Amino acid sequence: MAFPTQSRAVIIGGGIIGCSTAYHLAKLGWEVTLLERAKLTSGSTFHAAGLVGQLRSSASITQLLGESVRLYRNLEAETGLATGWKMNGGLRLACTAERWTEVKRQATTARSFGLEMHLLSPQEALNLWPLMDVSDVIGAAFLPTDGQANPSDITLSLAKWARMHGAKIFEDMPVTGIETADGRVCAVNTSQGRIATEAVIVCAGQWTRALCATIGVNVPLVSVEHQYMVTEAIDGVPKNLPTLRDPDRLTYYKEEVGGLVMGGYEPNPIPWAESGIPENFTYQLLNSNWAHFEPMMHLAIGRVPALQHAGVKTLINGPESFTPDGNFILGEAPELRGLYVGAGFNAFGIASGGGAGKVLAEWVVGGEAPMDLWPVDIRRFGPPHRDTGWVRTRTLEAYAKHYAMAWPSEEYKSARPLRRSPLYARLAEAGACFGEKMGWERPNWFGLPGETPVDIYTYEKPNWFNAVAREHHNTRKNVSLFDQSSFAKFLVVGRDAEAALSWICANDITRKPGSLIYTQMLNARGGIEADLTVARLAEQKFYITTGTGFVTHDADWITRNIPAGLDAQLVDVTSAYATLALMGPNARALLQKITPDDLSSAAFPFGTVRHLSLAGAAVMALRITYVGELGWELHIPTEFALTVFDAITEAGRAFGLANAGYRAIETLRLEKAYRAWGADIGPDHTPLEAGLGAFVKLKKNIPFLGREALETQRGKPLKKMLCGFTVPESKTILLGRETIYRNNIRVGWLASGGFGHSIGKPIGYGYVRNPYGVDEAFLTSGTYELEVATQRIPCIPHLGPLIDPKMAAIKA
Ligand SMILES: Cc1cc2nc3c(=O)[nH]c(=O)nc-3n(C[C@H](O)[C@H](O)[C@H](O)COP(=O)(O)OP(=O)(O)OC[C@H]3O[C@@H](n4cnc5c(N)ncnc54)[C@H](O)[C@@H]3O)c2cc1C
Repeated sequence: MAFPTQSRAVIIGGGIIGCSTAYHLAKLGWEVTLLERAKLTSGSTFHAAGLVGQLRSSASITQLLGESVRLYRNLEAETGLATGWKMNGGLRLACTAERWTEVKRQATTARSFGLEMHLLSPQEALNLWPLMDVSDVIGAAFLPTDGQANPSDITLSLAKWARMHGAKIFEDMPVTGIETADGRVCAVNTSQGRIATEAVIVCAGQWTRALCATIGVNVPLVSVEHQYMVTEAIDGVPKNLPTLRDPDRLTYYKEEVGGLVMGGYEPNPIPWAESGIPENFTYQLLNSNWAHFEPMMHLAIGRVPALQHAGVKTLINGPESFTPDGNFILGEAPELRGLYVGAGFNAFGIASGGGAGKVLAEWVVGGEAPMDLWPVDIRRFGPPHRDTGWVRTRTLEAYAKHYAMAWPSEEYKSARPLRRSPLYARLAEAGACFGEKMGWERPNWFGLPGETPVDIYTYEKPNWFNAVAREHHNTRKNVSLFDQSSFAKFLVVGRDAEAALSWICANDITRKPGSLIYTQMLNARGGIEADLTVARLAEQKFYITTGTGFVTHDADWITRNIPAGLDAQLVDVTSAYATLALMGPNARALLQKITPDDLSSAAFPFGTVRHLSLAGAAVMALRITYVGELGWELHIPTEFALTVFDAITEAGRAFGLANAGYRAIETLRLEKAYRAWGADIGPDHTPLEAGLGAFVKLKKNIPFLGREALETQRGKPLKKMLCGFTVPESKTILLGRETIYRNNIRVGWLASGGFGHSIGKPIGYGYVRNPYGVDEAFLTSGTYELEVATQRIPCIPHLGPLIDPKMAAIKA
């Protein structure tokens, strides 16, 4: 085959991800070339164990893993090459009461996402997996559509189909460089020459970080050793033995040639290749590390006594790329147009390969993610992820937690503190229990003297419940101070700033300077890509505030959608301002004590931005709220933050001021039905479905991105609508992902859940789906139940805020 000089797309890496992406690009009719530095599968793929599980905590990622299963089931028939695919089901054990609660909640999540998962007694589990000792097992879950495959065979089969449909695949062809021009990729270089291209898709496994770093693209993954043992044949191991996960013993199993594969996630993982991957590391394994594996072996023998006497063929030790949050990395790099990444598969690349390759190919072809892929989107990373040492430390914690209990609201412990607001020491002194996001330390709640501000995790009512209730009530009755300095903040400036934002924002931002506009930014499907506030500071100067975790994503969305030829630039000013939100009925009286400026609603109405003189500092004040009270967000030049904080604290004594944290914000916003991006709203939900139509300028004759999709949708019955629910039984714990039943039919799941302390009830929000249409009458007419950890509980639907629906408090 002649070596091409150009190709519409070039894939770098011939592991399962590269080959799956080639398969799907070829299927979409794209001309594609795949370049593999050695042989196909010679990276991590050839030594994978081959378990294919599907259940994750996100609906779209579960759906993506389901795509893998659908693909693998038919692949052998499509290509004639064996794949070793076996749909023998997956079993998951629970050995503690808390794990059993977790498994029951997972079963409910599976049901929410339409995945079959059955709960079994220990005896029923034993019937499926006869070699087990189940004396410590409380219960088990079984997913009949999970399976296993031969990783190399699946990969070669994908490659064969891609070739059959026009893909060009070259082995022993390392890419030696990627060329860029004008902020775009334009070619790759190899020893055989240069290939000009419009899209480079880097699926180079653990080599991805170093390769992408050469062109200024950050891919935060590191290599970690991972081991599994392969035994000789063992009596009583049937061919159809399900895969088994035993999280309380940190181990997993599958059948192989009449024996067992047994691997585990050690609590003390070993990083690999810290100073770079050796030059000729191809088709290679690392030395077996029996000493490190021994604790896994002990745990496994307790479960499968036959392992004690089984012959051991080998202990595979393979390096694999892992990431700081345990999820893989997909999408177009925010730093460089046309450069796509599919890497960092955290030892579930075989399970993900089919689906990940599909959505990555669709992303390349369509120019944007084909569905909500936020949990794996490359833009979920930000400043802390540029430091490989930080990434490695956090990644090792994530690896060690692989089979640990996934507690509600759990925080990472490692690599902290990293980013601190100027108020950090004051807040720590005031009893803050900090959480972490994007490297920032953020107060979650405050302990009073005598209370230890440390989270104790549980599936029951947590130890911070009363502290959060206290902060919640104080916000509703008096006034609270929230340090929200971690907010991402941007300026958009330039001759055409208004025109650019007018196109990107769904709400009308062409209002007069001093206006504050809450808006969504939509994709071409009308889905919500960003949810933020825009303050118009001057004719062509806009100040944008968005969530801490969305800094990279939202900056990328805005910059990539500025229409060509317009003069508008985005500047990230996150670090320039500390942000204090002063919220509650006493906020005005308190603030008025320390500013000469008029804070009356006539001078400073809701939905406006003004500059205030506060304790000697020039502060930008935004009259807005995410907790549903009278209040101001104060954006303070960083060096003035402590002075302002101290002045507010001092003046606050007369007004019942207290510090409050992010967990109080969550309960307060749930009562007010304020949406959270990434939970209640995202790229798969339009403002009409999310009940945010009032914030879209459809009635005005102004074009904007997503308008056509909304106009089309407006004319038809909606297939889903966001609805609020309360549970009369106040002890119920809602966490999100609970299944919604209407008239006994499964209609959706909760996108978010929590407790409203003012109303004294659990609250959830979720989309109610119906193929024949959903409207308000439909939403309010049914009899509803929520399934919580497999139990059905009656609940009541709500369409609006649960308190202050007329906004009297906010507009006071
Ligand atoms: C011990 C072990 C057990 C595992 N078990 C399972 C399991 O049971 N289930 C599961 O789902 N997953 C499992 N995995 C994970 C799975 O192996 C990986 O997630 C998956 O193989 C990753 O595939 P990939 O295509 O991203 O990377 P790779 O397979 O590493 O492919 C990347 C390719 O890129 C090539 N490359 C690198 N640089 C260049 C360059 N400059 N030019 C051209 N080519 C280049 C490399 O040679 C390599 O072939 C396991 C992993 C390990 C280590």
